[in-house]
Amino acid sequence: MSSPLSSSSHFSPSSADARDADVLVVGAGPTGLLLAGDLAAAGVRVVLLERRARESNLTRAFAVHARTLEVLDARGLAEDLLATGLFAPTARIFGRARIDLSTLPSRFPGVLITPQYETERVLEERAVKCGAEIRRGARVTGVRQDAHGVELDVTADGQDGGETVRLRAAYAVGADGVHSSVRQALGMPFPGKSVLRSVMLADVRLGTEPDGLPAFNAVAEGFSLLVPFGDGWYRAIVWERGCRLPSDAPVDMDVLRAVTRAAFGTDFGIGAPRWTSRFHSDERQVPRYRDGRVFLAGDAAHVHSPAGGMGMNAGIQDAANLAWKLAAVLQGRADDGLLDTYHGERHPVGKLVLRLSGAIVRAALLASPVARGLRDVATVAARGLPFATRRGALLVSGIGIDYPAPPGAHPLTGRRAPDLPLAETADGPARLYEALRAGRFVRVLPRGASAGPEDGVTTVTRADAARVTLLVRPDGHVASASEG
Ligand SMILES: Cc1cc2nc3c(=O)[nH]c(=O)nc-3n(C[C@H](O)[C@H](O)[C@H](O)COP(=O)(O)OP(=O)(O)OC[C@H]3O[C@@H](n4cnc5c(N)ncnc54)[C@H](O)[C@@H]3O)c2cc1C
Repeated sequence: MSSPLSSSSHFSPSSADARDADVLVVGAGPTGLLLAGDLAAAGVRVVLLERRARESNLTRAFAVHARTLEVLDARGLAEDLLATGLFAPTARIFGRARIDLSTLPSRFPGVLITPQYETERVLEERAVKCGAEIRRGARVTGVRQDAHGVELDVTADGQDGGETVRLRAAYAVGADGVHSSVRQALGMPFPGKSVLRSVMLADVRLGTEPDGLPAFNAVAEGFSLLVPFGDGWYRAIVWERGCRLPSDAPVDMDVLRAVTRAAFGTDFGIGAPRWTSRFHSDERQVPRYRDGRVFLAGDAAHVHSPAGGMGMNAGIQDAANLAWKLAAVLQGRADDGLLDTYHGERHPVGKLVLRLSGAIVRAALLASPVARGLRDVATVAARGLPFATRRGALLVSGIGIDYPAPPGAHPLTGRRAPDLPLAETADGPARLYEALRAGRFVRVLPRGASAGPEDGVTTVTRADAARVTLLVRPDGHVASASEG
C-alpha cells in the first residue's frame, strides 16, 4: 500500500504529523526499518523516529544470511540487495576449515556480503513506499504507558534544551540499538558480560586477495578477519590479544598488519585505510521482549559479538515476527495475547544466537597453543561429520530456526515454510514466497483441491504431490497444518 503522504523527513517539534500513529518505532536501523515497512504495508499508521539526521554510510554488518534473504524475497526485495554485493557459497573459519552453505535447502544457499547501509537503503525505500513516516533528527528520551497507549518524549536531536514533544500511539517498539533509550526508560535490565575489547576496524585495499573470502584465522597474537565489500575495498576486523586500549584510541595500522601476518602468514599488502574505528563487544539479552504496550527488538533486546554475522539478521527476523502480530491486533483480527508470542518465539532464538556467536568467539580467543591446535583439528574433523556441519550451517544461516508448537499440533506447526513451487495459474504466484508478498496469511492446498470462499487469506495450490494443507503466517512460518 503506498500513500502520497509517505515520507522520510526531518523531525520538527512544532509539526503534529506524528501525533496519531498506531505504532511508534524508535530507531531506523535494519530492525526498525523492516518493522516500519511491514506495518505500513499492512495498513497500520506507523511513525519511525530516528536520532540521526541523515542516513548512515558506515557499515557494521556485512553478512546477510540465507533466512534474511528469504524474508526479503517474501517482500520482493532480495534481488535488489543481491545486486549490491558478493554472494559466497562458503565462508572460511579457522585456518583452512570452511563452513559450507551451498547445500542449504534454500533459494539462497550461501551468504551475501554487502554493507549494512545497502540493506538499510533497500528497507528504507520500501518502508517509505508503503507509507511509513520516517522522522530523522528525533531523539526519544522518555517512555510512559497506561492501559490505552504509550507516550514518548521526543526531542529534536542536537538541540539540547530544545522543545520536547509527546507523541502517543497504541504501541511502541524500541529498535534503538545496543544503548537503547527505550530499554533504559522501561528500567529493563540488560544482563550479560563483555566479550571482546578494543577490536580494530579498518576499511582498506589489499595488494593480493586472500584465498576464500571472508577470510578468518585466530592465532596466539589475536585474530584477523577480512571481508570484501565487492568494490575493491575490504573491511579488516583485527583483535590483538591482551590489548586494553579504550574504544576511542586510534587504530595502529602496524599492529593491525602484524596480527594479520601472524594469522595468515601475509598481510596481503594492506594499504592505507579510508576509515578506522575500534569497538567493544558485549553478550547481553533482556529478560522480556515485551513490557505492556512496549516491545524491544534487534540490538535493543539482544547483543553479542559479530562472530557468525548474526546480529542484524536476528533483528530483521524479530521485526518480521512482531509486525504481522501488531497489525492483526490493531485491526481487530486477533486478541492481545498474540503479542505475547513475540517474546515466546523470539527470546529463545536470541538466546541461541548468543550461544552460537559466543561459542565461535571463545574458540577464536583460545589462549593456549594446545587448545588452539585441538580446536583446529576438531574444526577440520567436523567437516567429515555431515550432521554437525549441516546443523551449524542451518542455525547460523537461520534456515533451521523454527518456533515451538502447542502440544498435539501437527509436526509442521511453527516450522519455517520452504519456498514451495505452486501450481501454475494465469497470473498467480509461481512459488510460496511470491504469494507471501501480499503480506497476508497464505493457505497452501494440495494439488487438485478447490479453494473455499474468499476469507482474507491468499489461497494457492502446491505443484508437488504432497497431501498436506498448510496455513502459512505472513512471516513465513507454518501456523497450522493438516493432512489432506
Ligand atoms: C564490527 C561489526 C560487524 C558486524 N557484522 C555483522 C554481520 O556481518 N551480520 C550481522 O547480522 N550483524 C553484524 N553486526 C551486528 C549488527 O550491526 C547489528 O546487530 C545491527 O546493526 C542491529 O540492528 P538494529 O536495527 O537492531 O540496531 P542499530 O543498527 O544499532 O540501529 C538502531 C538505530 O536507533 C537509533 N537510535 C538510538 N537511540 C535512539 C533514540 N533515543 N531515539 C531515536 N533513535 C535512536 C540509532 O541512531 C540507530 O540508527 C556487526 C556488528 C559490528 C560491531
